[in-house]
Amino acid sequence: MERVGAASDRVLLRRLREVMAGTGSAQARLSLVVKVVAANMVAEVCSVYLLRAGEVLELFATEGLKPEAVHVTRLRTGEGLVGDIAAHARPLNLPDAQAHPQYAYRPETGEEIYHSFLGVPIMRASRVIGVLVVQNRTRRRYADEEVEALETVAMVISEVVGSGQLISREEIAEVDGIATLPHRLTGRVLAEGIAVGTAVLHEPHIVVEKTIAEDIGLEKRRLQKGVGQLRASVDEMMQATEQHIGSDSREVLETYRMFANDAGWLRKMHEAVESGLTAEAAVQKVQIDNRMRMQSVSDPYLKERLSDLDDLANRLLLHVIGRTGTAAAGKMPEDAILFARNMGPAELLDYEASRPKAVVLEEGSPTSHVAIVARSLGIPMLGRCEGAIRRVDFGDPVIVDADHGQIYIRPAEDIVAAFRKSLDDRREREAKYLGLRDLPAVTRCGETIRLKLNAGLLVDVGQVNAMAADGIGLYRTELLFMVRHTFPNLEAQVEIYSKVLDEAGERPVCFRTLDIGGDKVLPYMPRDGAEKEENPAMGWRAIRLALDRPAILKTQLRALLRAAAGRRLDVMFPMVAEAAELIRAKEIFERERRRLGRQGLKEPAEIRIGTMLEVPSLAFQLDAVLPQVDFISVGSNDLTQFLFAADRGSSRIADRYDPLSPPMLGFLRHVARACTAVGKPLAVCGEMAARPVEAMALIGLGVRELSMPASALGPVKEMVRSLAIPPLADYLEQIISLPDHSLRSRLMSFAQDHGVAI
Ligand code: PEP
Ligand code: MG
Repeated sequence: MERVGAASDRVLLRRLREVMAGTGSAQARLSLVVKVVAANMVAEVCSVYLLRAGEVLELFATEGLKPEAVHVTRLRTGEGLVGDIAAHARPLNLPDAQAHPQYAYRPETGEEIYHSFLGVPIMRASRVIGVLVVQNRTRRRYADEEVEALETVAMVISEVVGSGQLISREEIAEVDGIATLPHRLTGRVLAEGIAVGTAVLHEPHIVVEKTIAEDIGLEKRRLQKGVGQLRASVDEMMQATEQHIGSDSREVLETYRMFANDAGWLRKMHEAVESGLTAEAAVQKVQIDNRMRMQSVSDPYLKERLSDLDDLANRLLLHVIGRTGTAAAGKMPEDAILFARNMGPAELLDYEASRPKAVVLEEGSPTSHVAIVARSLGIPMLGRCEGAIRRVDFGDPVIVDADHGQIYIRPAEDIVAAFRKSLDDRREREAKYLGLRDLPAVTRCGETIRLKLNAGLLVDVGQVNAMAADGIGLYRTELLFMVRHTFPNLEAQVEIYSKVLDEAGERPVCFRTLDIGGDKVLPYMPRDGAEKEENPAMGWRAIRLALDRPAILKTQLRALLRAAAGRRLDVMFPMVAEAAELIRAKEIFERERRRLGRQGLKEPAEIRIGTMLEVPSLAFQLDAVLPQVDFISVGSNDLTQFLFAADRGSSRIADRYDPLSPPMLGFLRHVARACTAVGKPLAVCGEMAARPVEAMALIGLGVRELSMPASALGPVKEMVRSLAIPPLADYLEQIISLPDHSLRSRLMSFAQDHGVAI
């Protein structure tokens, strides 16, 4: 059955097509468009405002307002209702416009007699280029059909503007923010590193050039064909991606497949074609509606799903237009720096062949799937770079400093030269470290230090052999859970952990049980009754959640035990604050181990159970803890935040306290002494272990195992091989009780004086 309003949409579009096909200037056509719209929508006013250089919206055509206001009335973006629509790229539907706090009265327009107001943004390639408004005297809220009809007209107007006759193409470009001036933007570091390269837009601007259909039957077939191609490409993507990160990403793509077959989505697009739009305009229209919904949604899970749908609409648009894929499908410059509003993990993996030098996202968060994958692949990534896409164009030179959260667009020559130099130095260092691969991590005094890797996806497990590390000292299992869309059941977990162990081969892997909760929320996990926490890092997280919801922990431990049948299994628990928690977790583990025997399943050949030490209280109960464990692993990231009461996510206090300070080193000395006294190994797996000076101090205190990201292995090994421990241990004893804020400079001087490579 035909949707109500489809017939009247068709009439409106037919009229607009006649206007568009007519002769006369673009300005004359625009003036006719507003007349047609006003008549068709029974509106007393219809006006078009277009964005000019300098973020100014100018009244370009009106039916109903005073004609002398045309090209005279101007509003800044953000100013008045029209400016508000442009600023937020969302419609406003108001029964009484004058009661709205944003209302800005312009006497030259004579608009004071109109009360109801409906405005929608005019978009071109996902940027706002103007605003289309209808107004009426009576106070009423416009119906959804009317909002949709006006959005359709906005697309037609976008086509007129795109012709370049109303506003010169140069000015449109300037409005887009693509100027020639250098820009420096800041963003949030999602994956560290530096890159100098050339801007590439992940989604090359898709501009719908033709909005109104000539032949509806033909457009239906084009849409149908595009949908078919889209489904096939999602299937292909599923096959290709599985090889990279295993079945986790398969689930991400399952969502894509589900959307690609979603009847509601397809029906809406068909209706839009029925109403007289071209296939591409129909896809875009539904996409715009979806984006509007996205803006009003606050639930992060729903937002992610809507953004998946947005991504799928982009892919469909490309199929319908006949262009293949995102920038990944085309020829990429060798030094591509990818700019995207946001992207999914599978999309980043699409660039595998032409691996980008860095990625800049306008959205994104450190726990987003794509950030996890970027870190695994060693691609520097910045997120939350607002306005980045508006300010770059394909081919612009760009520097991404994802160590300090900065991007330089079209930087001056001297800045490029400085960054190139630091990049060259970096490469030289990397080559040197590769040479150390097969040399043992033994100090000058003959002490072996175990250097291990931190991992969380299958891609980074592979590094353990490539780098000849001593194993994986911290396997953050929650990362695998975070790239999925449903909770992995027992079988799925067994499969994942087996793959990890297979990949690592002879090298041991220490699995840390789920550290979720707090800010690491799994969108699919019910937190029934859990209130929103003010300090989630100190909230219902990790072992706390695991003990309160033992079914999750049981399943995970059962899966680990099964995966490690006949092999060695290392397990540790996160955020343990007291011995009792550890004992309860161990009881659950033990029950699962015995169950294995009862079921006649093979046990692991060797089991080692440990605890993370990242909550300070645990250090005051070591006498009770040590007999319970085979090892302790210090999570210095959380430990630092809890010891100093300094939020690890706050950039404001990021450098306020130094781990190389008397309180932190004194604390660690206490733990190291207790472990040494009973012969239990002590490891450090937080970021502290990854920096050579810090690693040196840790070894000086008695730590013999360090676990770090792959990029840190070379520098730390070089330091280890140049170090003699006894003089360092003596020196630490002399300085550890000083009242200093930090011991860093003293330790650096020590390293310099003793030829330690830091
Ligand atoms: C830590 O806290 O130091 C740690 C290794 O765990 P995470 O960074 O995953 O919290
Ligand atoms: Mg931690």
